[in-house]
Amino acid sequence: MAAALSVEVLLLGVGSSGGTPALGCTCPTCTSTDPRNVRTRASAVLRAGGKIFLIDTGPDLRQQALREKLLHVDAVLYTHPHADHINGIDDLRAFCWLQKAALPVYGNRLMLTHIRERFPYTILPPNAYWDKPVLTLHEVHEAALTIAGVTVQPISLTHGKWPILGWRVGDVAYLTDVSAIPDGSLALLQGLDVLMLDCLRDTPHPTHLSVAESLDWAARIGARRTVLIHMTHELEYHALSARLPAGVVPAYDGMRLFSEGIAR
Ligand SMILES: [Zn+2]
Ligand SMILES: [Zn+2]
Ligand SMILES: [Zn+2]
Repeated sequence: MAAALSVEVLLLGVGSSGGTPALGCTCPTCTSTDPRNVRTRASAVLRAGGKIFLIDTGPDLRQQALREKLLHVDAVLYTHPHADHINGIDDLRAFCWLQKAALPVYGNRLMLTHIRERFPYTILPPNAYWDKPVLTLHEVHEAALTIAGVTVQPISLTHGKWPILGWRVGDVAYLTDVSAIPDGSLALLQGLDVLMLDCLRDTPHPTHLSVAESLDWAARIGARRTVLIHMTHELEYHALSARLPAGVVPAYDGMRLFSEGIAR
């Protein structure tokens, strides 16, 4: 039996690639005054074993870090290299500067290839000014790994034609931008307390889960709590909440969850 690992989740952003409100839109979600209908691009922080893991670096990273007073990151866990998950990479320089250290980042081969090709200056040695991100790249495969003393499990997922990663720490899993979950990965999602799951909109999409598909996968995975993420403005917080089954809720920016990590 694995030792219990408690995990704190902070959802930095739960929006889709365009964010909510959508520029120029006057729909009920985009004109809502409820902060739960304001969604920055998808990203999360997991705290476990005294360490802070940042999932993805979207274009809103700086504002998210300021809002939540996020002053330290021990490692970045990347899901995939779409712009809404990587384009805040330059703002990692603030953490490198504060910590005067290179920041380890983890991803699959596709992810690391994109970093090397699109952001080659992030993998250079530091200079005296720490004016660029200084990253060390770590390629992960299917196996669990230990990062800063914490066991972290990559979860292989399909995002359209791309092989991407979800991440599990303790009894918490974060699965964004999913179109399908392979059987081998389903086996790694047993006994979850908190599942964060892609839920783009009602209409089916080739590279994301619709609400109906997301609820289907949530039922198959059977986490104690499922939290829907990466939503477009088509999903209004209260209207969506009202039609979800027990144990499933929409996420909102700044939402916090705590998993005690009861060993099974
Ligand atoms: Zn995305
Ligand atoms: Zn709208
Ligand atoms: Zn994507």
